[in-house]
Amino acid sequence: MYDVIVVGAGPSGLYSTRLLEKSLKVLVLEEHKEIGKPIQCSGLISNNLENFVKIDRGFVENEIRGAILHSQKNEIKLEKPGGVARVIDRGKFDAFLAKDLKSEIMLSSGVRRVDIKKDFVSVETNGKEFRSRILLGCDGPNSFVRNHFGVKPGEIIRGLIAITREDDDSDFVELWFDKTLLPDGFFWKIPRGESVEYGMLSRDAEFKSLERFFKLKDYEKRAGVIPIGLQKTYFHRTLLVGDAAGQVKPWSGGGVVYGLTCAGIASDVIKKAFLSKDFSEEFLNQYETRWRKEIGKSITLGLMFREFYKDLNKEGLEKLFEKLKGKNLNELDMDFPIWL
Ligand SMILES: Cc1cc2nc3c(=O)[nH]c(=O)nc-3n(C[C@H](O)[C@H](O)[C@H](O)COP(=O)(O)OP(=O)(O)OC[C@H]3O[C@@H](n4cnc5c(N)ncnc54)[C@H](O)[C@@H]3O)c2cc1C
Repeated sequence: MYDVIVVGAGPSGLYSTRLLEKSLKVLVLEEHKEIGKPIQCSGLISNNLENFVKIDRGFVENEIRGAILHSQKNEIKLEKPGGVARVIDRGKFDAFLAKDLKSEIMLSSGVRRVDIKKDFVSVETNGKEFRSRILLGCDGPNSFVRNHFGVKPGEIIRGLIAITREDDDSDFVELWFDKTLLPDGFFWKIPRGESVEYGMLSRDAEFKSLERFFKLKDYEKRAGVIPIGLQKTYFHRTLLVGDAAGQVKPWSGGGVVYGLTCAGIASDVIKKAFLSKDFSEEFLNQYETRWRKEIGKSITLGLMFREFYKDLNKEGLEKLFEKLKGKNLNELDMDFPIWL
């Protein structure tokens, strides 16, 4: 019997394991045969990452000083002289998080059955059964654990990435907002040092539109989905963390820093549950209260902004850009907007 079974070896699962294994017996189950693969993320992570891990040159591809936002007629430049974010290789980052873990990590072990009993949790992969006192669902946007409880994110949007082999060590990312082509999303370009990433985020994202917008020919494809919206994240003997819990910024689709933040809270609540020998839904409720206090307002504001943006027309977008152009937005935090 394990103390905790963590489903999913992405950043949320691996960071939770790092915090839990100091005092508890943890098993990590991961459906893919290699940690960090396939990559389904741009890896543009704010400097808040430093609050969780020591930055290792091995996973950093570029450092970013700001962003240039384009509408059809206007442009806004945001800049922080000290730097705002890093472009990381998510494959290498996830492997870095796994490197020093002492817990058992079973690869090629997709969870296909979950059974929450009164006194333990039973989980099945490839016909093998594992048991634990607590289950931590860190299994990403299509979470099997979340689905087991019949919980759904408000919305699922698609993120598409095209990587081209061109050197580009510029330190600005660029975003394009075009209400005719993408009513609910945006296009982006990220300089990755030895390559360039072109991407798009939308409910209706398609590689054909991405190719057309950036006039792309030869490129490497990456793609994934992003859950948007608040949902329930605690159940008897179970917590959800990261994308599985919808802990994602609704304005950008970014979720790594929120996942790490909530992994910290989940680990703390789980340790308390073991101390008080209480794994009930009522006890675990404090997890959701705490993470909503930390990031709930940002997500709610992001959801409101997303709805406002969807309803905005071409002229409204230009007006918004014109208004924002004169403002000093350089102090905005990528994860926690300053006005909250
Ligand atoms: C195109 C795109 C670009 C993005 N760019 C950024 C960005 O620049 N910055 C940012 O912060 N965020 C970005 N995101 C979001 C980011 O990728 C996620 O928020 C982040 O990966 C969430 O981490 P996680 O550990 O919660 O989930 P994941 O990273 O999805 O990890 C979940 C893990 O669970 C495993 N798993 C799934 N189901 C099972 C199962 N049944 N059994 C066992 N294992 C299972 C998966 O294989 C995976 O390893 C992007 C997303 C997309 C789609």
